[in-house]
Amino acid sequence: MLGLAALPALAAGSPVSGQVQRLQLKHTWTTVMSSSTHRDVLYTTIQQGGLTARGEGAGIVRYGETAEAGVAFVNRLAPELGRMDLLQFGKVIDWILQQSEADWAAKAALDIAIHDWVAQRRGVPVHALWGLDPKDAPLTTFSIGIDKAEVIRQKVREAEAYPVLKIKVGLANDEEVIEAVRSVTKKPLRVDANEGWKDKDEAVRKINWLEKMGVEFIEQPMPAHMIEEARYVRQRVHIPIIADEACLRPADIPKLASAFDGVNIKIDKAGGLLQGYRMIQIARSLGLKTMLGCMISSSVAITAAAQLSPLVDYADLDGNLLIANDPFAGVRVINGKLTLPAGNGLGLKGPLTRG
Ligand code: MG
Repeated sequence: MLGLAALPALAAGSPVSGQVQRLQLKHTWTTVMSSSTHRDVLYTTIQQGGLTARGEGAGIVRYGETAEAGVAFVNRLAPELGRMDLLQFGKVIDWILQQSEADWAAKAALDIAIHDWVAQRRGVPVHALWGLDPKDAPLTTFSIGIDKAEVIRQKVREAEAYPVLKIKVGLANDEEVIEAVRSVTKKPLRVDANEGWKDKDEAVRKINWLEKMGVEFIEQPMPAHMIEEARYVRQRVHIPIIADEACLRPADIPKLASAFDGVNIKIDKAGGLLQGYRMIQIARSLGLKTMLGCMISSSVAITAAAQLSPLVDYADLDGNLLIANDPFAGVRVINGKLTLPAGNGLGLKGPLTRG
């Protein structure tokens, strides 16, 4: 693995570079999809005009993306990007989006570094590029992964600082998980089934039970392709249903409008902040609630998403809180609320040295 200061040989001569960064998790992280102790993410750097700008993307295995492939994508685009006027960032990012059919996390990592660079160059925070008020940033949930009841109770106690929790369900022990959480807290809960329920009547039954347990909304109860079934479920429950795995990019949103109450937007899947901004506007125009979610990431990607968060109804931007070796500091959670750093660009501090 490359150190933070090292530039990959292939990108020599360009101000744009990419590298793999390994993030260690505080707890082994289990969802319906996977279980792991660390994550490798892609870091991008732009060094131009005396400024250093950073981006990050977490490639999603499900879509065949890895951090290493992300580095290759960045290195392929780096020479041409080095010749572009980054201040024309809308045009530059649309060019990046057209350079492959996939590589969404790598596109996001480049898009974030470009936003960081442009905002630093203009002497403003990234949120000012969209005219947002950082005081409008929402609360963020803190996520509790699937685990044994005793470990879940311990994780909930450790999450005392966070006023709203997001609970992962979708395996056979859903009731046990929720009852374990409820045995130690009365906080509002948001639940993510990560496509775990395969039957629409099972989903209706479980969601109506979750409502009685004080759950605010449910995320992606059934597999992404089951949009008709989601419409059926929505007509039989009271709490909002939020699409996540069914909602990757802007063009996905119109078909979800009659089957879901809202969408969870993730910058790593969307291909960056510009795409995320477009998705939020499309969703709002269709009357959908909006949420910003995240992958397990360091403060680079989480701070980037937080810069956009004044636009959304809900945030689940806790990926940096789950890792033990965050190389940067940026957005903070104060009384549960996302609190943006004061600096220009993303406002990151780092790389931090850790003993
Ligand atoms: Mg989700």
